[in-house]
Amino acid sequence: MSYVDEVLEVVRKKNADQPEFLQAVTEVLDSLRPVIDANEELYRKNAILERITEPDRQIMFRVPWVDDNGQVQVNRGFRVQFNNAIGPYKGGLRLHPSVNLGIIKFLGFEQVFKNSLTTLPIGGGKGGSDFDPKGKSDREIMAFCQSFMTELCKYIGADVDVPAGDIGTGAREIGFLFGQYKRIRGMFEGVLTGKGLSYGGSLARTEATGYGLCYYTSEMIKCMKNETFAGKTVIISGSGNVAIYAIEKAQELGVKVVTCSDSTGWIYDPNGIDVALLKEVKEVKRARLTEYAAAKSTAEYHAKQNGEHGVWQYKVDLALPCATQNELDIDDAKMLVANGVTSVTEGANMPTTLEATKYLQENGVLFVGGKAANAGGVATSALEMSQNSERLSWTFEEVDGKLKGIMETIYANISDAAKRYNATVGGNTDYVAGANIAGFEKVVNAMLAQGVC
Ligand code: NDP
Repeated sequence: MSYVDEVLEVVRKKNADQPEFLQAVTEVLDSLRPVIDANEELYRKNAILERITEPDRQIMFRVPWVDDNGQVQVNRGFRVQFNNAIGPYKGGLRLHPSVNLGIIKFLGFEQVFKNSLTTLPIGGGKGGSDFDPKGKSDREIMAFCQSFMTELCKYIGADVDVPAGDIGTGAREIGFLFGQYKRIRGMFEGVLTGKGLSYGGSLARTEATGYGLCYYTSEMIKCMKNETFAGKTVIISGSGNVAIYAIEKAQELGVKVVTCSDSTGWIYDPNGIDVALLKEVKEVKRARLTEYAAAKSTAEYHAKQNGEHGVWQYKVDLALPCATQNELDIDDAKMLVANGVTSVTEGANMPTTLEATKYLQENGVLFVGGKAANAGGVATSALEMSQNSERLSWTFEEVDGKLKGIMETIYANISDAAKRYNATVGGNTDYVAGANIAGFEKVVNAMLAQGVC
């Protein structure tokens, strides 16, 4: 049995109740086969795959807080510190009822490779809680965040582990978390990223993931197809941080975006999504997309059917999934191919199922996983860490310019790694393999240099 298959078997046995984690490990190790086969003796002797699939530590804790009726509520908090071979742990905090250890481990594992791809010195981690911020008052959110940080602060620090936002954790939550860290530790340091501008945040961090996704997509179609992003029609799912700023940048670059979605339904607007209205509905009012449709006569609102949104059905050029994991399945992939979609670049983490990914790739669609395409968020978080360390703030243009350069470098590094290992699929460069290989090589070289730890 090959080294990859041996390790996959052990990982499956040890983590049988964590399907998302197993999905992520299988996808990564499968695509790394050429590199691992070429270095099998060295990696086997050093148990590289066993070490890289086992987090450095997994922290789970109780988060008690008091709701507005005086009732004590209890949630579960998580921080998985996956690998710090190339820098302090770095990765977001997800607040969503679906959060469990397996989901945090899948996200932490992916983060290791993504952070390595950014070219910046950051290791991988992830955290969060099964707390549902929806419908909670500001006071309840603060009570939860303070309790969460009371425990988390024992394990993080500017040179140790630097969490950030993710689903359900935006500027408001980061503010409450930072305030509590400062209060308990008595230290003003860059322990979180995504902070407000008045207390160490970076310009362009809010926009970074969505903007970076567009920079990457634009670079890829320029290099691969000799075409411009401008003039294309695009489907985007989600209406959170990533989706909103992907829509904004795509439109700035001359692209028409015709959809967006949330956890209850989706919008189709053939005239193009009105991003100012979307921001008003989602960022200011924190309301549902029905409010968008009510204010926009050209928009159609559709409620989710059988738990699924239907944004993938429209005839467009490109698709950018930006909501959540496993939101694009095999039937959706078939629809995209039938409609002539030429590329899928993931803004969210693992929004495409393994089966759908394979189908898209084998049918000639340029497919880029979130690890590469959404790395602009964490890259800009690392730029926020740099600014905090030098106690300076860079201009929006400076940060945005660095972000664009990083996304173009990521594209070049991935293409180079895929070329070195002859990784192609469906007649195209295999960007999934390229990203995993480029991210893996840097982390493994650091692990080997640092000995058994
Ligand atoms: P937000 O919380 O801002 O938005 C998430 C969006 O997805 C919302 O539109 C939400 O709808 C929808 N959504 C959430 N859960 C589900 C679900 N179970 N089914 C259907 N729709 C759902 O998160 P972000 O935009 O920050 O993150 C989106 C994705 O991008 C995640 O996978 C995240 O891990 C990833 N990511 C984010 C980065 C960042 O910088 N923000 C960086 C890199 C990756 P509703 O409003 O109804 O909840």
